[in-house]
Amino acid sequence: MQSMDADVIIIGGGLVGATLALALARHDVTSIVVDTADLDATTLPAFDGRASAIASASGRMLRALGLGQLLDDHGCPIREIRVTDAAHPQFLHFDAGEGNDPLGTMVENRLLRTHLLAAVRACPQATLLAPVTVAELVRDEHAATLSLADGRRFRAPLAVACDGRRSPTREAAGIPIAQWHYPHAALITMVAHSVPHENIACELFYPSGPLALLPMRDADDGRPRTAIVWTVDGRHMAAARKLGPKQLAAEIAARCDGTMGDIEVIAPQTVWPLGYHHAARYTDTRLLLLGDAAHGIHPIAGQGLNMGFRDVAAAAEVLTTAARSGLDLGSPDVLAQVSAWRRFDNSLVCAVTDGLNRLFAVPGRVPSLVRRTGLAAVERMPPLKRFFMNQARGETGKLPALLKGELV
Ligand SMILES: Cc1cc2nc3c(=O)[nH]c(=O)nc-3n(C[C@H](O)[C@H](O)[C@H](O)COP(=O)(O)OP(=O)(O)OC[C@H]3O[C@@H](n4cnc5c(N)ncnc54)[C@H](O)[C@@H]3O)c2cc1C
Repeated sequence: MQSMDADVIIIGGGLVGATLALALARHDVTSIVVDTADLDATTLPAFDGRASAIASASGRMLRALGLGQLLDDHGCPIREIRVTDAAHPQFLHFDAGEGNDPLGTMVENRLLRTHLLAAVRACPQATLLAPVTVAELVRDEHAATLSLADGRRFRAPLAVACDGRRSPTREAAGIPIAQWHYPHAALITMVAHSVPHENIACELFYPSGPLALLPMRDADDGRPRTAIVWTVDGRHMAAARKLGPKQLAAEIAARCDGTMGDIEVIAPQTVWPLGYHHAARYTDTRLLLLGDAAHGIHPIAGQGLNMGFRDVAAAAEVLTTAARSGLDLGSPDVLAQVSAWRRFDNSLVCAVTDGLNRLFAVPGRVPSLVRRTGLAAVERMPPLKRFFMNQARGETGKLPALLKGELV
């Protein structure tokens, strides 16, 4: 066999690709990460003003990988989640419980990117090349060979595509996806307000689309801060985009029934198109798809990145075990293990998220009554409630060691 340049080539150094490189490095598996973007520019607020709800299992993995300081210094724990049909008081309520881990932690994406990149750059086992242009990826029975437009070539037993929703690598491999676009988009912003959020995340479902209020660390001036994900009907998006800070604050206040007190919009609003996609398979010859390259969902339940993190944890465990046994990391048997581990959880989250979104989109008083009755029923059924709570924590199925906070 010809010599290899690394154990794995990772295409895409976004949140999922960078986390994979770090997880492999912590287990002494080497990688070359390539990205078309200037990754330092992706840490600027103008590139990604979003914040992510990091589920508790994902948080344990980030801590095991050495990013605990990020969560401690900048994360805001979510201790309760309230789900309501509009601002109706009858709600489904999840509580972390006294002394337990929080249900999740809110972190700004730009900070997550900054800390991940710094950690990857500090690892001798990972080589980060960005911005670069991928000219060609050739995969055959011997190796995956990546050629860059600047003439450099790298060989590894396995290429992992972490190149996002439109994944050029997935498309070039001819892997089909199930996909549809939702008729709305997410308007993202951040507000400071007068009434403390008490570490409670609220998901208010309106037929026009859900509004998520996600607790953040206090602003520099000490005011409570909340991240807003407002799903707006595509037909009204142009108007929503044009709202000035005062009008936007008034719209948000009206939808959350004044529960935040005085509101001030403190970040520019950005708009994200929303869609669903799921790859028919996650593997091909010496190729593995992870994160948004494999699946993308509505952000209603804040699970997209968490699914990608769970992909990383499973892939890191399988690849590390294979590397220690001297196995070929790109062999169909090894890739099938990762795929089998992740397929069920990803399919379940995709289906539940899509179903919830459709259920709450039906307008009218009768559907609204049915939904409220349903929420009340789930609230009274401890096993069902526990199921949803474990999903929110990212703790269903067989957990890889990293999601338990352990390195293997
Ligand atoms: C509005 C909104 C809110 C969200 N909120 C949450 C939340 O609260 N919690 C949660 O878990 N998830 C959330 N998500 C989902 C989450 O943001 C995504 O799942 C996550 O960012 C996917 O990360 P990724 O690394 O797979 O893909 P990406 O972030 O898209 O990264 C892909 C990388 O690949 C690079 N790339 C692309 N093409 C190439 C190429 N040809 N060669 C090399 N590199 C390439 C890109 O430059 C990029 O750096 C939200 C999504 C949206 C839209």
